[in-house]
Amino acid sequence: MNERCDVAIVGGGPVGAALALALRGNDLKVVLLEAREAKINTTDPRALALAYGSRLLLQRLDAWPAIPNVSGIREIKVTQKGSRGHTTLRAEELNVPEMGYVLPYTALHAALQQALHQSDICCLYGAAVSELNTAHGCATLTYQHQGTQHQLDARLAVVADGGKLLEAAHPPQITDYGQSGLIAHVNCTQARAGMAFEHFTAQGPMALLPYLDGYELVLTAAHQKAEEMLTWDDTTFLAFLQTHFGDRGCDTLLAQPADCGSSRLAAPPAPGGYATPCRSGVGAFTAIGKRSCFPLRLKRAPDLTFPHTILIGNAAQTLHPVAGQGFNLGLRDAWELAQVILDHAPDNIGSAAMCKTYRDARRLDRNAGIRFTDGLVRLFSNDLPLLGPMRSAALSLLDHLPLAKKFVARRMMFGANG
Ligand SMILES: Cc1cc2nc3c(=O)[nH]c(=O)nc-3n(C[C@H](O)[C@H](O)[C@H](O)COP(=O)(O)OP(=O)(O)OC[C@H]3O[C@@H](n4cnc5c(N)ncnc54)[C@H](O)[C@@H]3O)c2cc1C
Repeated sequence: MNERCDVAIVGGGPVGAALALALRGNDLKVVLLEAREAKINTTDPRALALAYGSRLLLQRLDAWPAIPNVSGIREIKVTQKGSRGHTTLRAEELNVPEMGYVLPYTALHAALQQALHQSDICCLYGAAVSELNTAHGCATLTYQHQGTQHQLDARLAVVADGGKLLEAAHPPQITDYGQSGLIAHVNCTQARAGMAFEHFTAQGPMALLPYLDGYELVLTAAHQKAEEMLTWDDTTFLAFLQTHFGDRGCDTLLAQPADCGSSRLAAPPAPGGYATPCRSGVGAFTAIGKRSCFPLRLKRAPDLTFPHTILIGNAAQTLHPVAGQGFNLGLRDAWELAQVILDHAPDNIGSAAMCKTYRDARRLDRNAGIRFTDGLVRLFSNDLPLLGPMRSAALSLLDHLPLAKKFVARRMMFGANG
């Protein structure tokens, strides 16, 4: 006889954990299965930009107060390398205290887990799910735990595993941008608290997210180039970064020194080769922490639902991190799914009608998030001759259209359903 539950969540990453929390205290039997042994993942180096709307959801999940050292974003400067077009999004123009926040993935994850431990949710760590089958009116999960194989029947299985379990049977649609994301913490001489930078270059976007005494850097480049950049010594890397970022972000945009204006990913000058450093709006980059690399692709599951099964978070869609939308979208998946589950009688959880209600509820926000992110990468990451001036003009135009700016900023903060 298999064990039974109402909702089984495969994957205790931030999205799966958020769903479990949103279902707590409702007399439902919810089981969360997480493959990792350790309760807290201490190794993932990425920082996340969290939208203001996500903060509101995390507050409702009682996870927000437990996140230490969060840095707020009050302004986002968007610029394009080699052009003067730019726009700035400001929290004060949107009547919110902050547009978003920067925090380590591990801190978010730990806070969600802490809230989970104080709840009635059954969490199994070191429980790797190896199979998901649907028959006899339920989903049956096979998992290994403490050296033994178990089976669990669930009215609904929610796959929040980042996109592995169902990949072979239901291959996702993949757009390979040919890019990797290089991340690291950087320090500079004029860090501006609360100001984030999104800088588009022909090789891909780069972001500086304000965090503590400096910035979390996300720099995109072709896979091979990014791998090569991991091997550079700090001085060489910092010199490159100074050139790549150029003088963007200054209140008054300055004429660029010759080596700052190139749209090519120039080879770095010899270490110490800068007599006059470029002016970046953050001063000179002075130190860099450990660098790591992630391959960047758009992956989208062809279907969000199967009988008694729903995909959420990265299992449903994995986005390029250009606009910091991946987790924010996944959190909204989790929140809306919890509302749909709680709106249905227990007998109808996992039914075809319930799955359709969820699919319909997420269509607009999901498609908008995918299109927005993919469009940004395609439009801004190339050096086609006519596109450069058009992009520059578009950024400047946006800067003078308060309603359009508000629309873009609200989409980033709350999604298309917000
Ligand atoms: C460089 C980079 C920067 C990013 N920056 C941002 C940002 O600024 N803002 C933003 O919103 N998003 C950002 N993202 C995206 C964000 O990290 C993801 O959207 C988010 O981590 C997705 O969470 P998830 O819970 O769906 O999946 P994951 O974080 O992948 O978690 C999946 C979990 O499932 C577990 N699991 C896997 N297989 C099984 C199995 N068979 N059985 C049981 N458990 C299993 C795993 O151990 C893991 O804990 C960034 C991503 C990258 C790569």
